[in-house]
Amino acid sequence: MEYEVVMGLEVHVELSTESKLFCGCPARFGAGPNENVCPACAGMPGMPAVTNRRAVELGIAAGLLTGSEITRVISFDKKSYFYPDLPCAYQITQYFAPVCTNGRVEIETSRGKRRITLKQIHIEEDAGKLVHDARAGAALIDFNRTSVPLIEIVSNPDFRSAEEVVAYLEKLRSLLSFAGVSDCRMQEGSMRCDVNLSVRPVGSETLGTRTEMKNMNSLKAIAAAIAYESERHIRALQTGSETLVQETRRWDDARGESFSMRGKEDATDYRYFPNPELAPIVIDDEWIARVRETLPETAEAKYTRLTERLGLAEHDAAQITQSRNLSRIFDGTTRIFDKPRDAAGWILVDLLGAVRGDGKTDDDIEIDCEKFAALMRLVDEKIISRAIGKKLLIKVLEEDIDPAAYAEEHGLGLVTDTGAIGDAVREVLAAHEKSVLEYKDGNEKVMGFLMGQIMRRLKGQADPEAVRAALTAALS
Ligand code: ZN
Ligand code: MN
Repeated sequence: MEYEVVMGLEVHVELSTESKLFCGCPARFGAGPNENVCPACAGMPGMPAVTNRRAVELGIAAGLLTGSEITRVISFDKKSYFYPDLPCAYQITQYFAPVCTNGRVEIETSRGKRRITLKQIHIEEDAGKLVHDARAGAALIDFNRTSVPLIEIVSNPDFRSAEEVVAYLEKLRSLLSFAGVSDCRMQEGSMRCDVNLSVRPVGSETLGTRTEMKNMNSLKAIAAAIAYESERHIRALQTGSETLVQETRRWDDARGESFSMRGKEDATDYRYFPNPELAPIVIDDEWIARVRETLPETAEAKYTRLTERLGLAEHDAAQITQSRNLSRIFDGTTRIFDKPRDAAGWILVDLLGAVRGDGKTDDDIEIDCEKFAALMRLVDEKIISRAIGKKLLIKVLEEDIDPAAYAEEHGLGLVTDTGAIGDAVREVLAAHEKSVLEYKDGNEKVMGFLMGQIMRRLKGQADPEAVRAALTAALS
């Protein structure tokens, strides 16, 4: 029998607000333990709560970006469960009137375009962070993250493969980080994914027993976990090796397997009820229109502009539009240096090559776009060679030099003097007679070696085209 995997995703995304959802504590990541906590977000009874207007706006923005319907009167509810990282023993979320419903996200996979439909997007508060300290034999709690605003994006069970899941998460990350809704840094936990997975015979309409893997925060781990869980389900159905039960499982990335964490409560166990301390909020047309105006060019529109109007290769455009920062660098440099395809090469090959190994993500790169563009122009106008350009790029990154002034001061201008190039060619050919003979025997690869030697002798400052011409002439 053939089986198909059916998955639905719940994606939690921390919103890029300055402060928390119902108090003024800073919402940012990275403070010392329990530094960003006040009586309200520590769950003290009787503390006044006011909903963060910006969080609601970012929720609306997420809805507009996913073609969702925006709910006109939203409210907040309490979701009861006891866990030490939740000081109130309930989480404030939206159950009865979530901010968005019925959205969609278009994805592209190796088997073509697909549409993932969204059940809803709701706003809720994050929980604190438990740190299990083996040496102390204790669990420590950091409440900094408590009440940081989140949206939870709930999809319908539309996914059939890990590839679709990864494409969807990348698309969400691009949409949301572009619009400044969230930084979507999976490694910092600001984007986390729960995968609900079941397996059924192909052609069947009913869903199989579902298991849930929670809080996954790397695309690689998610793909590996889906592969493992699907296989486990199929094996269980085929051979009766185990009985599948509805449960929450944890993925152990180091061991490459999932294990049972707890039986899954049904939704009714949460005893959702309206939060009487928070007034409902009316979202009118005017507010939605104002949020719409603040949305930047979407990654999709930008992709179309880059490929169709600026003539970039599709995979270059895709890579640039997937990162808000690379997009910013692209826009910032092409504003000054009007050769978009060259600029894309500088950014994707030279800049990424220069910072690779520092453990930086595309979004961490900091560079002065004006200086970067000036550098591109110096090479384009043949004032310096490409090789020198690459070296100056490192200097711009590390020492923030002014490329033109630096090249001038250090005499790095392009060697165009044919006399100097001719001397270098003669010297190199004299020193490598064997290679010259090999070349004359028909081994053309030697050409590259000789070019390298000559360029080195000219300290990388010569125009490769002029050198190649001189070398070809000398060899013939
Ligand atoms: Zn607080
Ligand atoms: Mn949630």
